[in-house]
Amino acid sequence: MHRKRRSHNIRQGLLRRVPSLPRALFVGLVMVILVGALNACQQDVQGPTDQMGVGSTQHAPEAEGGQVHWTYDGETGAERWGDLDPSFEVCAHGTQQSPVDLASPIPVSLDALDIQWQPAKADMVDNGHTIQVNVPEGSWITLDGRRFSLLQFHFHLPSEHTYEGIRSAMEVHFVHQAAEGDLAVIGVFMDVGEIHPAVESIWDAAPGFGEPSATLPELDPSALLPEDPGYLRYAGSLTTPPCAEVVSWVLMTHAITVSRAQVDAFEARYPMNARPVQRLNRRFVLWPQ
Ligand SMILES: [Zn+2]
Repeated sequence: MHRKRRSHNIRQGLLRRVPSLPRALFVGLVMVILVGALNACQQDVQGPTDQMGVGSTQHAPEAEGGQVHWTYDGETGAERWGDLDPSFEVCAHGTQQSPVDLASPIPVSLDALDIQWQPAKADMVDNGHTIQVNVPEGSWITLDGRRFSLLQFHFHLPSEHTYEGIRSAMEVHFVHQAAEGDLAVIGVFMDVGEIHPAVESIWDAAPGFGEPSATLPELDPSALLPEDPGYLRYAGSLTTPPCAEVVSWVLMTHAITVSRAQVDAFEARYPMNARPVQRLNRRFVLWPQ
């Protein structure tokens, strides 16, 4: 079981206590890049091949690439993103790229993460890279004493982050933005196990082929959080072009479960939409206590 192994390993990783994290250095970084990241991509719409159908082209941050065509494999795949457009250069040469392998987390004392998400109806899009739920205003988190508003959440298969090399079947990313423009993304691993009712309702509502969007009936995003509130943190980037290094990452230490059929349904639409793991370089993975 992933969740037990992950949790166990994290506890084994308790080596020492360190002072609190210096205030995040990437606050307010690179607004220009984010402006580019907010543009819609008109690429990559695929044919009708699956149970959920395929639809629109709209993007929001963290599943974003301006107008430049990019993919996960092949000529425009992840290893070549940095060459596709000057604004993607950091994908190739950045030193704080995401995702990463979450190994040897360091226990730290930090203000608690406060999650204030509200149930709401939402618009869903298939943007050519993932299924994305655009969340209306009114949900936010507080991280390091700063408020980040929830913009959207979307899915990757397999998981983008790993824990000591262990990859989950899927990963959901909740993308938040501060007034200054920088992002905070909460990632939740999705392991194969019991069927997940909230995921089922999202899959059921996904836009069909040729539909630009669909409406998701009222859903509480918190239904996609694990019961255990533990999480890890590190400073990183968007995992899609332009790979801007403006993201405070929060990865929940416990996974939620989805059924094999639920994974298969997403896989039929997106067989692989995960960027390879990037070097940690001079960063640390932090384990807030
Ligand atoms: Zn993502």
